[in-house]
Amino acid sequence: MPNNVYVNRTLNLKKIKYIGLDMDHTLIRYKTENFEKLAHSVMLNKLVNNLGYPKSILDLTFEFNRSIKGLVIDKNTGNLLKVSRFGGIKQSYHGLKPIDYYKRKKIFADTFIDLGDNNFDTIDTNFSISFANLFAQLVELKDTTEFQTLPEYNQIAIDINQALDRAHQDGSLKDVVRENLEDYIIRDEKIVQLLEKFIKHGKKIFILTNSEFPYSKLLLDYAINPFLKDHDSWADLFEFTITGSKKPRFFYDNLRFMKIDPETGNMTNVKSKLTPGIYQGGSANLFTSDLNLDPGHILYIGDHIYGDIVRLKKDCAWRTGFIFEELEDEVKNNKLSESINKEIEDLMAKKIPLETKIDNLISDGIENDHKNHKDEINKLLDQVQEIDKLISPLISKIQKLYNPYWGEIMRTGIEESYFAYQVERFADIYMADINDFFSQSPRSYFRSKRRLLAHDE
Ligand SMILES: [Mg+2]
Repeated sequence: MPNNVYVNRTLNLKKIKYIGLDMDHTLIRYKTENFEKLAHSVMLNKLVNNLGYPKSILDLTFEFNRSIKGLVIDKNTGNLLKVSRFGGIKQSYHGLKPIDYYKRKKIFADTFIDLGDNNFDTIDTNFSISFANLFAQLVELKDTTEFQTLPEYNQIAIDINQALDRAHQDGSLKDVVRENLEDYIIRDEKIVQLLEKFIKHGKKIFILTNSEFPYSKLLLDYAINPFLKDHDSWADLFEFTITGSKKPRFFYDNLRFMKIDPETGNMTNVKSKLTPGIYQGGSANLFTSDLNLDPGHILYIGDHIYGDIVRLKKDCAWRTGFIFEELEDEVKNNKLSESINKEIEDLMAKKIPLETKIDNLISDGIENDHKNHKDEINKLLDQVQEIDKLISPLISKIQKLYNPYWGEIMRTGIEESYFAYQVERFADIYMADINDFFSQSPRSYFRSKRRLLAHDE
C-alpha cells in the first residue's frame, strides 16, 4: 500500500493512546465546490437583503478556482497575495486582475507580510474559498464607475464576514445542507470500518469540533451510523464527542466542559472529572489532566492550518496531523512536471556557462580597458536568448498543471509558500485524506526523512 502520510516529525503510533479528529472537512468530507457555491450565494443574498448592497450583484457567479488555500487577503488594498515562506509577496491580484511584476515591485517593494496584522486574513480552510472569491469580485466591481458607491474595500470584507455570520446564526446555510445532505456531504463506508479497526487495537478516538451539537449530530447520523458494525451509534464509537469547542481557544484557555444530553440537547455543568460522553466547550488542559494523559500520547488531526494546527502546537504538546485535500492533485502534478523540470534543468546547464563567459568578457573589458569584446558578447547574448525562448513555454506548461491563477499551493517558484512553511513547522504528519491515515497499521512508525540544508549536496 503506498504510504500517503507524509512525515515532518517522527511519530510512533504505538505511543498514541487518543486520536482526536476535527469534524468538518476532516472526519466528514464535504463536496467542497458545491458547499462553497452555496455559501457564496447565501452571502450575496445577505449583502443585498440585510446590508443594502445593490441587487445587481446577485448576478455574480461563483468561481471555485479563483483562490487557493494559504492566500492572504489584504483588506485595505483589495489585493489577494501569495506569500513565500519568508513573508515576501510572490504573486498578487487586485480584484480579479493580476498585478504585474513591475507594479508589484513598486507597490510592495521590500514589504514582508506580518500575518499578525489585523488587516490581513488568510485562506485557512475550504470554508474561506467562497469568501475570497466574493471579496475579489466586489473589489473588481467597486473599481468601475457603475459600482463606485460600494463601501471601501475594508468595509466590504467586514460586510461579507457579517453576512456569513448572519447566515450561520439564522441557519440559512445549514438548513440547506440539512435538506440536501447528499449534495454537500460525502458518505464513506470505508472510514467507518477503519475507525472500528483502530478501536479494536485499543485506540480511543474522539471528535473535537467547533460545530454545535445539533449540526454535528446531523452529519454524524448521516455519515457514520449507517456503516457501523461493532457499535450501535457514533456516540459509542467515539470516546468523547466535544462540540462547540471554540478552537483555537480550546488549546490555550481553561473553559469548562458542559455535558450534553444527546436525547434533548440539554447541557449541564461538569463538576467531576471527565468521563466518556458528549460535551460542549472545555479545554485541552482539562482534557489532558482529567484523563491523566501525557500530551505526547494524543494525536489531533484537523484541516484548519491555523485553528487546528499552528495554535495547537504553540499552546500544547499534543501531536498534530494536517489534512488538505488539494495535496492529492498537487502530488500528482509534481510527478507530471518532473520530466519538464528535467528539460528546464538541462537547458539551464547550457545557459549558465554562457552567462559566465559573458561576465568574464565584461570583467576583462573593465580590467584591461583596451579590450573590446562587444561582438563576442552579443553573440553569446543571442544564444542565451534562444535558450530562454525554449525555457519559457516549459514553465507555462508546468503552470498549467496547477491552479490557473495561482499555481502550486506549496511553492512560489522555487521557494516554499508560507502555507507550506506552516505545514512543515507545525504539522507532525500531513495527508490529503483522513483515509490515508487510518489505512495505515495502528502500529505504524512514521519516520521523517533526513532533510536537505542549503550546503547539502
Ligand atoms: Mg475542519
